[in-house]
Amino acid sequence: MITADLIVGNLAELVTCEPSLGEGPLGLIANGALAAADGRVVWVGPQSRLASEVTLTLGGRRLDGRGAVAVPGFVDSHTHLVFAGSREREYAMRAAGATYQQIAAAGGGILATVAATRAASVDELVNLGLPRLRAALAHGTTTLEVKSGYCLNPAGEVKMLEAIRRLDELQAVDLHANFCGAHEVPPEYKGRTDAYVDVVVKEMLPAVATARLARYVDVFCEEGVFSIEQSRRILEMGARHGLRAKFHADEFVTLGGAELAAEIGALSADHLLKARPEGVARMKEAGVTAALLPGTAFFLGLPYAPARTFLATGVRLALASDFNPGSSMGLNLQLVMTMAVSQMKLSPEEALLGVTLHAAHAMGLEADVGSLAPGKLCDVALTDGPNWRYLSYFYGVNHVRAVLKRGRLVTER
Ligand SMILES: [Zn+2]
Repeated sequence: MITADLIVGNLAELVTCEPSLGEGPLGLIANGALAAADGRVVWVGPQSRLASEVTLTLGGRRLDGRGAVAVPGFVDSHTHLVFAGSREREYAMRAAGATYQQIAAAGGGILATVAATRAASVDELVNLGLPRLRAALAHGTTTLEVKSGYCLNPAGEVKMLEAIRRLDELQAVDLHANFCGAHEVPPEYKGRTDAYVDVVVKEMLPAVATARLARYVDVFCEEGVFSIEQSRRILEMGARHGLRAKFHADEFVTLGGAELAAEIGALSADHLLKARPEGVARMKEAGVTAALLPGTAFFLGLPYAPARTFLATGVRLALASDFNPGSSMGLNLQLVMTMAVSQMKLSPEEALLGVTLHAAHAMGLEADVGSLAPGKLCDVALTDGPNWRYLSYFYGVNHVRAVLKRGRLVTER
């Protein structure tokens, strides 16, 4: 007998995302049930075996799933969730045909967010972040990566990372910080990118690492921003400080970001719209996850990444929101799944794995989250039926009716 302090029964479907635990690539268990102890999954199986295999401890909780479809809590492996200001006017200008230069001249673009975020206090950033995280949780996201990168100076980047740490403590979604001091060249270093890279490497990285403020290091590796050589320097120095690389690669130009990710053994390379398939094949060999962000293409009205070409290499594909005020103001991963299926031709199975197990790999957290295997955190999204396919099929609505985080009911409607 297995002892549990939480039992969730009467599930129309339990989607474990572990093929060995059920049917098909998603490890689906029809009429399933789940048991947990101390916030971790201890048993999954059919409802019919629950009573004979699991006992509830005294004071344990029994939750009636009422025919819900249970999936692993979603993992969002690429967000810029902490920022001040907003750019809804720029969004309208873009739709009306304004160019990047016109938007910048009107005070828009990333530097508008940098100015607003530099001016904000930690408290202000926390207060702005909380409702966004409530929305993410309500849509089933239980683990989320958050980047710095909107202050672009040592004190400001530390301030952003402190806000992320506070946000992690204040609410249920587990946050993992990515130091992205090399998100853009700040205006005061215009034309002196190498001098700014010096600041990132010699001042920011040691400060961030000493205070243990981040788990990852990121760089916007792109033509006109940070070159391959500058990116390698930042990411390698990050590794020396114990930070794993997860970075923006080959979004607008084929620069060789995919190859760099393979070379340095990054956790993930993200965007990849212009990545060479050979580079993605090298990523596959090196075990690097490809994180695609269809919300950005959707929001900007641009072409999508060639996901099927990448999948043909065998690479592991994650999907993330890229939540940010300029190019993807959305954090609903159910909708991201729909975009992946309709626009990038992923199968619904590939899309669901993209926001669960594969996203966990993109964050190096596959031992703890991303699937409902015994030993992993009991992070579960209970969704309205009739089956898991509705998550991407019936789009634009929130299917999540309740969320368990570490075995605790944290949201319910
Ligand atoms: Zn990004």
